[in-house]
Amino acid sequence: MIKKEAPSTRKYLLTGSADHCKVYLTINPDNWQWNGLHAKTALIYSDDFNRFSYGEDHPFKVQRYILASELIRSYGLLKTPGTLISSYRTISEDELLSFHRSDYLACLREFSESASPRADFRFGLGDVENPVFNGLYDWARLGTGGTVEAARLVAEEGYDIAFSLAGGWHHAHRARASGFSYLNDAAIAINYVVSLGKRVAYLDIDAHHGDGVQEAFYDTDRVLTISLHESGICFFPGTGFEGETGLGRGKGFTVNLPLLPHTDDALYMKAFDEVAYPLIAAFDPDVIFTQLGADTFRTDPLTHLEITTHSYSYIIKKLKALKIPWVAVGGGGYDNLNVARAWTIAWGVMNGLELPPRLPADFVELISRFGFPNRVLYDAMHWAEEDDRNAALDAVEKSIAAIRKSVFPVIIGKHA
Ligand SMILES: [Zn+2]
Repeated sequence: MIKKEAPSTRKYLLTGSADHCKVYLTINPDNWQWNGLHAKTALIYSDDFNRFSYGEDHPFKVQRYILASELIRSYGLLKTPGTLISSYRTISEDELLSFHRSDYLACLREFSESASPRADFRFGLGDVENPVFNGLYDWARLGTGGTVEAARLVAEEGYDIAFSLAGGWHHAHRARASGFSYLNDAAIAINYVVSLGKRVAYLDIDAHHGDGVQEAFYDTDRVLTISLHESGICFFPGTGFEGETGLGRGKGFTVNLPLLPHTDDALYMKAFDEVAYPLIAAFDPDVIFTQLGADTFRTDPLTHLEITTHSYSYIIKKLKALKIPWVAVGGGGYDNLNVARAWTIAWGVMNGLELPPRLPADFVELISRFGFPNRVLYDAMHWAEEDDRNAALDAVEKSIAAIRKSVFPVIIGKHA
């Protein structure tokens, strides 16, 4: 068990003022009060996220949520002025039906309550990847309830940004579990935002293609989906190529930028700057929705990109600077400390805080007990080996050129 400790006085580097000066403030989090009138950002978090398990040998560990929330707490970011820490809300089956099929939901419900092991491979349930465990349906609804609550705070309550830590299950299909995902929280939350008459830009920076979310909005021009991910040539889920650009009214509103293994920070920022950023800016959505998976990082055990916190923070800062109402969700990440660092950085940026680079002493003490050697929040910018880098650069330039040809005329032409 992780011992809760009283928050201590911490020092923050505050940036972003008009004259670009940097001011160190010492704040005692005990003195911070949440004032509903001024609250502008919301973090959706609950200890319930840590109650379930995919099994000892499964790469997805709910401990990531404990580590992330402990690091956020350790930096004093659970009590930042103007923020709300909120729980998920109960999600109704009607809301789930905005994306999922009723027979699939019935199967999830039945298996979740079953005392003996069950499987139905038509629905992707019960294999090593998507195990069936007691309370599975409750587990999946927690993340969805968190993300729909984040969307509600932004779309209806006037919050600038809301971050649903336990969301980001972007592989869940209409009637099939996939890639550790059972319910597609993003698709359901975006459907809700669209039902309010709003247009949404969805950006997915997880290492894997956001295939389930793409499927949900493939034929609409109300939602622009953009996914930057490791190429599906030899990698799960095997989709997300440049030629997948949408259908019917949605033609040109689906964007995929597959990246070769070894794509590094500079190439990742290039991909974001030359594709995602101009398209989001031109589309000018009412709400930005981002999936902030941290499995792109070079030390992730499941993926082959070479990203660090450097380009991750860069992207989060550029999104924040757009000043568009923003719903963020978590996502992949199988090195738990990367997940904790990435989402703490993201939550810091969302609140306009540049955090001290050294991890707080109490957090270092906590993670050292679990064998993590890390001492710093930020990684240095990373460059891949020259041959790998050249191949990745060549590929990203070809992909960018293809997208500029196929999608840019639709989005920039209509909305610039
Ligand atoms: Zn992933």
